[in-house]
Amino acid sequence: MLWLTEEEVRSLLTIDDAIAAVQRAFLDHGNGRTQMPPKSYLYLPKHNGDLRCMPAYLEGQDLAGVKIVNVHPGNPQIGLPSVMALLILNSPQTGEPLAVMGATYLTSMRTGAAGAVAARHLARQDSRVVGMIGAGTQARTQLQGLSRYFPIEQVMVFDSFEDQALAFKDDVSGFMKCSCIAVSGPEEACECDILVTTTPSRRPVVRDEWIQPGTHINAIGADAAGKQELESTLLKRAKIVVDDIAQAVHSGEVNVPLSEGIIREKDIYAEIGEILTGKKTGRTSNDEITIFDSTGLGIQDVAAGHAVYEKALRSNIGRRMRLA
Ligand code: NAD
Repeated sequence: MLWLTEEEVRSLLTIDDAIAAVQRAFLDHGNGRTQMPPKSYLYLPKHNGDLRCMPAYLEGQDLAGVKIVNVHPGNPQIGLPSVMALLILNSPQTGEPLAVMGATYLTSMRTGAAGAVAARHLARQDSRVVGMIGAGTQARTQLQGLSRYFPIEQVMVFDSFEDQALAFKDDVSGFMKCSCIAVSGPEEACECDILVTTTPSRRPVVRDEWIQPGTHINAIGADAAGKQELESTLLKRAKIVVDDIAQAVHSGEVNVPLSEGIIREKDIYAEIGEILTGKKTGRTSNDEITIFDSTGLGIQDVAAGHAVYEKALRSNIGRRMRLA
């Protein structure tokens, strides 16, 4: 079995690898060629966090595995990431574990890749201005992903902690040429072509009235029951595309508006895989408001993890461990 550390995964996985892997995984999902029971959650309210288990099998590519991941929004205050993960890849033929790898970086990269793939199909092609609400780990890879498809000229970032937004602005100048401004309120970040929300909020941070026709929103932060970043009425006037219906209904951006009765399941337009396979169309006019509701899928992890595993074998990176 191959053991790969976080640093090794980081040295192997590029955003382009992640985008290619996630795109194939969404296509497989759209073609009904995946097995992926919805994430199972252990809620840890005493510790303001949760632990999740995410098994997945991509039948066409014959790739299987399971990720264990947490979300503890208070972790940065004690020097740990909010989200940390471990991925196990198994041989579908025998079930034996092939690899165990740190998957914290991989999680952020496959999430950034999902945002990029979705925006490519849902955002206006002439999008140049990106608004970011939340300036943590996922925000960075969202922007990295978007920069692969859009010639971004301006980024406006808001975080409830100003130092986070300023640190984000500094980081962006390391990998992008465009201008980045830390803005003083979420409303200013909404004056954009593509809005990305990556907060762990349980109350809407984006008001319906702030969003102009034609905007695309990557709603990334809501990935557990009760989480919500967008005002519910905004979803009523948007084309809603989810990554997986079962997960989204339970824990995505749609979960609260559905439970309030403001939208119904039939208001969800498509899964992203249906758009990639051409079963449904993406954006159809410059005036549509589109929302990609990302909950994060086990198939994204297994697909990206396999890309890392194959590269590691080719480059002779990692340690071989014996279980027996
Ligand atoms: P993080 O702690 O690194 O960053 C979150 C940032 O949001 C912090 O800088 C924090 O100050 C800021 N913030 C919190 N509340 C805010 C508010 N109301 N307004 C503005 N800023 C606010 O966390 P992360 O790893 O970036 O994860 C962010 C969210 O994304 C979490 O909810 C996590 O569960 C979710 N997530 C989703 C996926 C997916 O696939 N959809 C994957 C990973 C993480």
